Amino acid sequence: MSMLFYGAGNWGKAALKIYNRKEHHGDILEGFVDREKTGEFCGYSVYPVSEIEKKDIRIVITIADSLIVAEAYNTLKRAGFHDIYRFENRESRCGETGDFIRDECTVCNWGDCVLPKVEMHIMDSCNLNCKGCTHFSPLFEKKQPDFETVIRDVQMLKEKIPHIVIFSILGGEPFLNPQIDRYAAEIRKMLPDTYIQIVTNGLLIPRLSAGILECIRENKIVVQISEYKPTHQMIDRITDTLDRYGITYYIQPYQEKQKFVKPLSLSEASRYPHACISERCVNIWNGRITRCPTLMYIRQFNQVFEQNLPEEGALQLSDCPKGFDLLDALQKDVPLCRHCVLCETEWEQCGVHPSVTDFATAE
Ligand code: SF4
Ligand code: SF4
Repeated sequence: MSMLFYGAGNWGKAALKIYNRKEHHGDILEGFVDREKTGEFCGYSVYPVSEIEKKDIRIVITIADSLIVAEAYNTLKRAGFHDIYRFENRESRCGETGDFIRDECTVCNWGDCVLPKVEMHIMDSCNLNCKGCTHFSPLFEKKQPDFETVIRDVQMLKEKIPHIVIFSILGGEPFLNPQIDRYAAEIRKMLPDTYIQIVTNGLLIPRLSAGILECIRENKIVVQISEYKPTHQMIDRITDTLDRYGITYYIQPYQEKQKFVKPLSLSEASRYPHACISERCVNIWNGRITRCPTLMYIRQFNQVFEQNLPEEGALQLSDCPKGFDLLDALQKDVPLCRHCVLCETEWEQCGVHPSVTDFATAE
């Protein structure tokens, strides 16, 4: 069978090296596909997707980043390809057969299309209250959401899209919700093949019960820690706890988290450059879906500060379109985009009473 590698980069090169080492070639590599490059790569031709006429050819996505893999998958499905695999680039292997596809790849059984990334609050408020929080968590009351309402949103989303690649349980601070183990177990049941992560500032981790920590490990949920200054001061206690319970975690390091941005300008004609800092961060909340957190929670900003930034663009999960139509709808610019800027600041916490300038510049 003929085969193409999708991705003429480092992983494409790694896949080719292993492919050349294999003895049995049930699949014959004919070249590379790439969304940006054309010409030649490692002695093979590189084609754009639009030039591949044989739709029954086998395609192996040779890309590291899961979100870009998801986009590649959608591009291939839109173009009519159906025999799609992902190169795993594993460190260790067992039970090798000598066949490239069997030993090195997994089949992408993801249906008609995939949603690369979704975020969902299980607590709107936070214990850190950063200035510039794009979820406006410092502006929310400390109140637990209703479990059934939150889970219903996941269920409705599942009915709209066949597969989600990365699902983030967050907030606010998700560990402020004492039912986090219940959410973790239920969401894993609903999304068995999704990479699920809890995104946290980590401060509460050393105080978590054994039951919560065991539940996170048993449900194969990854902990993603944003290492802000207060987190940095206790990072050893945090990682010791996670190590003790065998939980997989990643840290966004302290150096990176010292820079922050005010995400908004009150003016459409800001002196700061326009920028979207929440690309691909689809949010679901209270029966709605938006392309980013800023849009989802802007109503809270408007209410607290008596502002009138545009709120249009959220879709109701109950009657929004499905599949590719939903993906396309979530790509469209919304009026609020005209207020999104890149205004860099140092990381700081809000005071007892957050002010509008903690989140938005006037200029
Ligand atoms: S830790 Fe995260 S969620 Fe909490 S206020 Fe800071 S940016 Fe927002
Ligand atoms: S409103 Fe538009 S520009 Fe702003 S974060 Fe959302 S998608 Fe990006």
